[in-house]
Amino acid sequence: MGPALLLLAALTAAGLVDLRAAAALALVQAAGVALLARNRRREQAAAATPPTETAATVPQDFLERLPDPVILLNGAREIVAVNRIARDVLGVGLLGRDLALSLRHPDVLAAVETVLSGLPSVTEEITLPVPMPRTFTLHAGELPPSADPRGPRIALVLRDETRAKRAEQSRADFVANATHELRSPLSALIGFIETLRGPASDDALARERFLGVMQAEARRMARLVEDLMSLSRVEINEHVPPRERIEVDEVLAAVVDTLAVRAAQRGMTIRLDAPNDLPEVVGDRDQLTQVFHNLIDNAVKYARPDTTILVTVLAMQRLPATQAAGVSVAVTDEGDGIESIHIPRLTERFYRADEGRSRRMGGTGLGLAIVKHIVNRHRGRLSIESKVGVGSTFTVFLPSASTPRSGGEGLPQSR
Ligand code: ADP
Repeated sequence: MGPALLLLAALTAAGLVDLRAAAALALVQAAGVALLARNRRREQAAAATPPTETAATVPQDFLERLPDPVILLNGAREIVAVNRIARDVLGVGLLGRDLALSLRHPDVLAAVETVLSGLPSVTEEITLPVPMPRTFTLHAGELPPSADPRGPRIALVLRDETRAKRAEQSRADFVANATHELRSPLSALIGFIETLRGPASDDALARERFLGVMQAEARRMARLVEDLMSLSRVEINEHVPPRERIEVDEVLAAVVDTLAVRAAQRGMTIRLDAPNDLPEVVGDRDQLTQVFHNLIDNAVKYARPDTTILVTVLAMQRLPATQAAGVSVAVTDEGDGIESIHIPRLTERFYRADEGRSRRMGGTGLGLAIVKHIVNRHRGRLSIESKVGVGSTFTVFLPSASTPRSGGEGLPQSR
C-alpha cells in the first residue's frame, strides 16, 4: 500500500474524515507522489525549469478532474499547484505566492501550520466571507516527503457545504414554523377549555360562543396537519414523474363543483372556460385536483365578494421557455392583488403577503408551496401575475401527454 492509501486507511479508520473527502485527499496525495517522480525525472534530465513551474504543470490534468477546490503547498507555504475550481471559488491562483497572501483565512493558515508541525492531517469547518459567505470542510494533509525542498508538502482539499448548510437551516426553520403554527390554536383551545370548566361553567351563552371558536381553532389545526402531510407526501415522490393520462377540464369541473357553494357564500361565481379539443396531460389526478383546488380556493378567499373567478384553459403549441406542447390553466380573480415584492416568495412554506387576512380566512400558508411541488413533479411551471387594486392571475402550465417525456424535458422547474 502506498503512503497515500495508508494515510487514507488510517484517517478513515480513525473516523477523522468522511470517505469522499478522504478519497479526494488520498488521490491528491497520490498525485503528489507522481509529481515528485516526474520532478525527479526532470531533474535527472537536467531540465532548467524552476520547481514551482514544474510543480504547477505536472499534476494539473489530474487536479482539474477533481470536483473540489485543491491547493498544493510547499514547505515554505507557497502555492505550487491549484485546480480551476479553487481558482474560481477561492480566487487563489498565483503559483509561487505565499498562501497567507492568497487566502487570508486564519483557520486555513492555522491548519497548514499544524500539518507542518507534524500532525498528518487536520479537518475543520471554515466560512469564507467573500464574495458571499460560504461554508467549507477543509482537509489539510501531509504529502509524502520530497527530495525537492520546494516540492509540494501539503494538500488542501475543500468541500463546499453551503448548500447542505442551507438545507439544514431551512429544515430547522420549517420545524420551528410548523410548531409555532400549531401552538397558537392549541393554546387557544386549552384556554377556552379552562374557561368553560371554571368561570363560564354556568354561562350557556358563553359556552355556545366559545364552542364555536374552539371548533374553528380545532379545524385550523386539522387543516394544518393535513397540509403538512400533503406537503411531505408530495416532496417524497417529487422526483417520480406521474403516469396517468388526465383530461384537465374534467378535473377542473369537479373542483369548481366542490368550491361553488363556498364561493356562493361570498356572492361569487366561478366560470370555467375550456375548449373542446383539449390535449390530455400526463398527471396524477389527486395531485392536480389539489393544485386547482388550492388556486381556486385562494381566489375565493382573497377576491372581493360578489365578483367572478375566471378559470381559463388553453391548449398551447409551445409552453413558455420550452418547445413542448401543453395546456395552461389560468385562475383570475378580482381581488386586491399582491404587491410585487411578495410575488417571488409566495410559494415558500408559511409565507403570507397579508398575515392577518390569511389567518382570518383560515389559511395555513402552505397551499402555494404544495402547488409548487406538485407542478414541479409534473415538469410544469407556475406563473403569478398580479395588479394591486385589480386582481391576480395564477397560471399553471403542464406539458401534454403527447410530448415525449424523458429526464430533462418539460418546462423549467417553477420556483
Ligand atoms: P394561505 O393558506 O395563507 O392562503 P397560500 O400558500 O395558499 O397560503 O398563499 C400564500 C399567500 O399568498 C397568502 O397568504 C396570500 O397572502 C397570498 N395569495 C395567494 N393567493 C392569492 C390571491 N388569489 N389573491 C391575493 N393574495 C393571494
